[in-house]
Amino acid sequence: MLNRREFGASAAALLSACGPGPDQSSESEQPSGPLYFDLHIDTPSRLVSESLNMAESPEYSQVDIPKMRQGGLNAGFFAVFSSARNKTPLESVKDALLITDVIVETINRHPEDLFLATTSDDAVRAQREGKIGIFLGVEGGHMIDSSVEVLRQLYRLGTRYLGLTHSGNTPWVGAAEYADGPEGLTEHGKEIVREMNRLGMMADLSHASERAFYDTIETSEAPILNTHAACKAVANHARNLTDDMLKALAQNGGVLGVAYYAGMLDDDYRGRFPELREINRQRAAVRKDFKDDRKRLSEELWKLNLADVATIGAPPLSRLVDHIEHAATVAGIDHVGLGSDFDSVGLKLPAGLEHIGKTPNLIAAMKERGFSDEDVGKVMGGNVLRAFRQAEAVAAQS
Ligand SMILES: [Zn+2]
Repeated sequence: MLNRREFGASAAALLSACGPGPDQSSESEQPSGPLYFDLHIDTPSRLVSESLNMAESPEYSQVDIPKMRQGGLNAGFFAVFSSARNKTPLESVKDALLITDVIVETINRHPEDLFLATTSDDAVRAQREGKIGIFLGVEGGHMIDSSVEVLRQLYRLGTRYLGLTHSGNTPWVGAAEYADGPEGLTEHGKEIVREMNRLGMMADLSHASERAFYDTIETSEAPILNTHAACKAVANHARNLTDDMLKALAQNGGVLGVAYYAGMLDDDYRGRFPELREINRQRAAVRKDFKDDRKRLSEELWKLNLADVATIGAPPLSRLVDHIEHAATVAGIDHVGLGSDFDSVGLKLPAGLEHIGKTPNLIAAMKERGFSDEDVGKVMGGNVLRAFRQAEAVAAQS
């Protein structure tokens, strides 16, 4: 018996076999294959600083319309992020508004390809209509200045997840890599999480401390997300999840978006970072030299990213699959997703996954490892959709 996905694929094959000639539009090509939903894309920084035209595809951009099309992306969370360093909380709130505006204006310039997505159904609609649904995820609780009122305004603008903290700059939640805040979630932090449940905005614990992770799971009625991290049992990075955390995530119904950042995936690779000292020195110089010409800066930085790869190589794509497999073994296949973090980590990425257009390589690597089509579909986006729907159901009940 054909399952639904196989039916979709064979229907598409049938339609294209008797469909329009080469000069006509490909409207009859129904989407087939799994929903592909990326939990964390950092391209907004390029939209803000370089005014990147999403219809163009310069070599240095990892996510643009041509590459998203090539990779088969249906939906993705664009990260609304600015570092809290050197910024007051109020300036961070302003940044959240500004970056959100830039993303929405960008989407509006490409209505044939993109739309602002705010519901789980929008992800499904994106696939059905052959468009890409762009969701908004704010990265860092500093961007609400501890205010539930600001939180609600960001929800109204379309934000559907909030990363509770970035690097140690949120007064109500502990961060994974810095010890200058509270250890876990404060009482005010719990209030914020409860308000997020009520609204239908998911909590992202990607940069949070282990204590904050457990506190949030205890507080949240809705599934939580960890939009871009990996497994500590495979690579010992401070932000990676222990097996106990993976089990708690499964209990909660949440999803880990396995990050592609190779520094989180491979300890030996990260151990070679000191060899990049000279390139990093050049990077700092280039940043200074081209600070007023962001496009040129991106081109120069790209050359240094290539130099990184020439110096310390890149882990094989199978290393990323190791993390996906480990998370699936410990938490269960229903709790694993993808959070690329593209456009934020340079070329510190697994070989063969240098931009979003190369996603078919990842699908092939998962299948090679023995993942069934159904399991690949869950990892690609099915699980995110399921968690999103649960969060919406929690909000609808409250
Ligand atoms: Zn991040």
